[in-house]
Amino acid sequence: GLELRNIVKNFGAVEVIRDVSLAVNDGEFIAFVGPSGCGKSTLLRLIAGLDKPTGGSIAIDGTDVTEIGAADRGLAMVFQSYALYPHMSVRENLAFGLENTKVPKAEIEARIADAARMLEIEPFLQRRPGQLSGGQRQRVAIGRAIVRRPDAFLLDEPLSNLDAELRVTMRAELAALHARLKATMIYVTHDQVEAMTLANRIVVLRSGRIEQIGTPLELYNKPANRFVAGFIGAPH
Ligand code: ATP
Ligand code: MG
Repeated sequence: GLELRNIVKNFGAVEVIRDVSLAVNDGEFIAFVGPSGCGKSTLLRLIAGLDKPTGGSIAIDGTDVTEIGAADRGLAMVFQSYALYPHMSVRENLAFGLENTKVPKAEIEARIADAARMLEIEPFLQRRPGQLSGGQRQRVAIGRAIVRRPDAFLLDEPLSNLDAELRVTMRAELAALHARLKATMIYVTHDQVEAMTLANRIVVLRSGRIEQIGTPLELYNKPANRFVAGFIGAPH
């Protein structure tokens, strides 16, 4: 499991994450929701190891990883802005970072084929990211995480650039993916329908603090306050 203990993050004098503690079980699907600027992406970057907390500690399966870099945490992050390599083909983007590991070439090919089929990006494997639509790029970014078979996926609004129809399809695909890989997923979204349908538990953030953590039903039936109720779309 993943454990955040009293995480604080300052940017200069501004405290962006304020004493966040959270334990995530292996295989759990957790959604982070909250208004723009509340610290969702920052928290995800801290978990990924792309940034260091100002205070507090992070443990994975009981081992303190606060000082361990992103590459050695066994996590894969899908960014809000895709972060694909523009000079590489889609196939090369998917394979990148796997080629110099112990994963055999045939296994890499099989994983790419599998992800490409699932995400419906097979026709674009030879293209570069610049020759794709936003939604297609977003699916490649998800594919790049999938082929790494991480212990946990950190997904920062991975469906935000898709049209309504594709969002619904991809939502189902993510649920199926979660069921199949049994990986932990930490999922940032603005969309409460996504959070309510996908997540085992939802973390509601506001100004860098956790307002409430609970299952979708708990938050809907017993929101801690009007803010949570408003965000979840519960009656209040
Ligand atoms: P959104 O829903 O718009 O993506 P968010 O919840 O992901 O918002 P963050 O990106 O985590 O929000 O940002 C939280 C706060 O920290 C914001 O006020 C933002 O301006 C600030 N912030 C983020 N990164 C930095 C940085 N590198 N330097 C200074 N301030 C930052
Ligand atoms: Mg963000």
